[in-house]
Amino acid sequence: MTATVGILGGGQLARMLALAGAPLGLRCLVMDTVADACAAQYVPLLHADYCDKLALAEFASRVDVATFDFENVPAESAEWLAQRIPVFPGPRALAVAQDRLAEKTLFQDLGIGTPRFSAVLSRPDLDRALSDIGAPSILKTRRLGYDGKGQFRLRSHYDADAAWAALGDQCDRVGLILESFVPFERELSVVAVRGRDGEVRTWPITRNWHSDGILSASLAPARVSNDIAAEALVAAGRVAESLDYVGVFALELFETPSGLLANEMAPRVHNSGHWTIEGAHCSQFENHLRAVLGLPLGPTSARGVSCMLNWVGELPDPLAVLRLAGAHWHDYGKSPRAGRKVGHTTCVADSAQELAVMLETLGIALDRRSQTESVIDALRSSV
Ligand code: AMP
Repeated sequence: MTATVGILGGGQLARMLALAGAPLGLRCLVMDTVADACAAQYVPLLHADYCDKLALAEFASRVDVATFDFENVPAESAEWLAQRIPVFPGPRALAVAQDRLAEKTLFQDLGIGTPRFSAVLSRPDLDRALSDIGAPSILKTRRLGYDGKGQFRLRSHYDADAAWAALGDQCDRVGLILESFVPFERELSVVAVRGRDGEVRTWPITRNWHSDGILSASLAPARVSNDIAAEALVAAGRVAESLDYVGVFALELFETPSGLLANEMAPRVHNSGHWTIEGAHCSQFENHLRAVLGLPLGPTSARGVSCMLNWVGELPDPLAVLRLAGAHWHDYGKSPRAGRKVGHTTCVADSAQELAVMLETLGIALDRRSQTESVIDALRSSV
């Protein structure tokens, strides 16, 4: 296949998309505002601002289809491109996913449960929203927040001043939303792909653990009840249909005793789907490329039981991972920095018991037991 896929954003997701495209004979071109974007170690880079029309025109002339490695490309730039070349997911899906208020409103309209929420327009409006929603709650920026950034947790009404001091100055620029704090039992995600012909496939449901708002570990397939699995798959299907979505997306969910509540959607391949590279018959990266190019979708079933560990800030010792059969090392080629995702490791095993032993070995070898312990507990309690 000779197609060239243009990717707006040149981070690790673009890099893994390009790597997945290589066996299919695909070429990629990334556009990024930073010159040392990590995908550019393997893929040609157009270094420009996303609003630069000349650069967008050059990008459009060099690719057959455009897609995204992150959702915060300006919606107007996506629209501009969509008038010239196929862009998947489409600008509407991008616009909805860029705004937590639009996103939660869509979920509600589709009958998908959400935490209680209210837009916050000013400091007095925060008091009004707090009276409606109550505490504990979380004040979040509507746009441009990621990995727990742009969030403030309120334990009581007395925290309103502190919350406003932290985020109030962003109210006019990116908007604010107050959400009820959900005392969830587990965090789950469903990663799904929808083809150009409307076919939807979902990977097994993934259980996720976060640390400081950043994904720390993912386990798949998660042991969930049939009811929870069905609810998650129905929710993903409704979101995909309503946005006429094409490509991979992830729906982040909180599991509560009364069912699922949707936190947010990511209109792109997602960190909680990295395990699919080695742990599923067709990865989220390959299926995203297949979807945006109108090719048949690949099977999304799991190969065994997988756990993905994110390396945040700095990489651990690669040799300890490489020595362990069934463990896979991914180095994104990024320089270390606090809070930055610099790589991940996926362990794949035939059984939960076997995976628990692998994680125990790895946790000790890498001195990362705090990261592996909860996953091991979950695996041991399910066998
Ligand atoms: P987000 O940026 O919205 O994905 O939030 C990052 C993480 O913060 C989530 O994965 C949860 O662990 C936590 N979080 C976000 N919103 C809520 C909420 N409404 N209730 C409880 N925890 C939350």
